[in-house]
Amino acid sequence: KVKGSGRNAFRVFDEGLDSEASSRCRTEAELREAIAAGALELHFQPIVAFPDESVCGMEALVRWRHPSRGLLMPDQFIALAEDTGLIVPLGEWVLRHACFEAARWPGHVRLAVNISPNHIKKRTLVRSVIQALGAARLPPERLEIEVTETVLLLHDEAILAELQQLRDLGVAVVLDDFGTGYSSLSHLRMFTFDKIKIDRLFVAEVAERPDCAAIVCAVTGLARSLGMAATAEGVETAEQARLLRAAGCTHAQGYLFGRPQPAAAAYDVAVSGLAVSGLASTATRPGT
Ligand code: C2E
Ligand code: MG
Ligand code: MG
Ligand code: MG
Repeated sequence: KVKGSGRNAFRVFDEGLDSEASSRCRTEAELREAIAAGALELHFQPIVAFPDESVCGMEALVRWRHPSRGLLMPDQFIALAEDTGLIVPLGEWVLRHACFEAARWPGHVRLAVNISPNHIKKRTLVRSVIQALGAARLPPERLEIEVTETVLLLHDEAILAELQQLRDLGVAVVLDDFGTGYSSLSHLRMFTFDKIKIDRLFVAEVAERPDCAAIVCAVTGLARSLGMAATAEGVETAEQARLLRAAGCTHAQGYLFGRPQPAAAAYDVAVSGLAVSGLASTATRPGT
């Protein structure tokens, strides 16, 4: 029906594009502003170690408290940050603030920070990491940098050298979301990761589908023989936790052990060493 309206149809279409472009432009300006003004927030989610399920780490997960749209999740602004180059100042902000927070936790509780491949490409990450650790007085052994396989798809020796420099400093390099996208076993020999995180996709069905359990077993076996730890992501039930532990996962993370929460609550979890009981966190889950 739009076709029949001739020239006007183009005008409507143009305006649609215009407003989409201008809203994107506005969001970009707002995000730039938010990073500069420190209007981003960090939540932290516990990572537990099998077999005792004690808290051994926290993953920093960024949120954006938007003046009119409320608390935005990463999937609502990370892609924009990637496209506009804002991912670098965003990543640096996260690193700095997360390190300061982690410096208050007991010494055995490590900090995991997600870093985008586009950030690593810029070749400034090692310097930023050294500065963030130094400013917070956080030992490098307490930091883990999480990267996805996209970083390996770039086939860039300089990037691998950058990641190796982090390892040389004592910072752990973790392969995030393993098993999704362009996963390939050959990636595991392109770089020596300290740990791999098995994607939630496999974890979600590990109790229902024997093939998922078999994949998890194979991946943890491989990780073990390559000297890497293996974390299961997105663990939501005690049954999943039991199976994943039996399948050889060394660590786990998920709503069962605790949701991402603001720094003050995360501090209590880090100090008590106990993730919130899975049942309690389910009962108080917002929006369910
Ligand atoms: P990720 O690094 O794989 O982080 C795990 C995501 O899974 C988080 O989502 C977390 O809230 C969610 N999650 C954890 N446990 C469970 C569970 O039991 N069930 C379910 N359904 N979900 C669970 P979030 O916080 O929305 O972050 C999404 C992604 O955004 C992250 O995936 C990461 O790739 C990216 N991201 C988050 N913070 C940062 C950051 O500071 N920098 C960059 N570059 N990326 C970030
Ligand atoms: Mg991650
Ligand atoms: Mg992940
Ligand atoms: Mg993910």
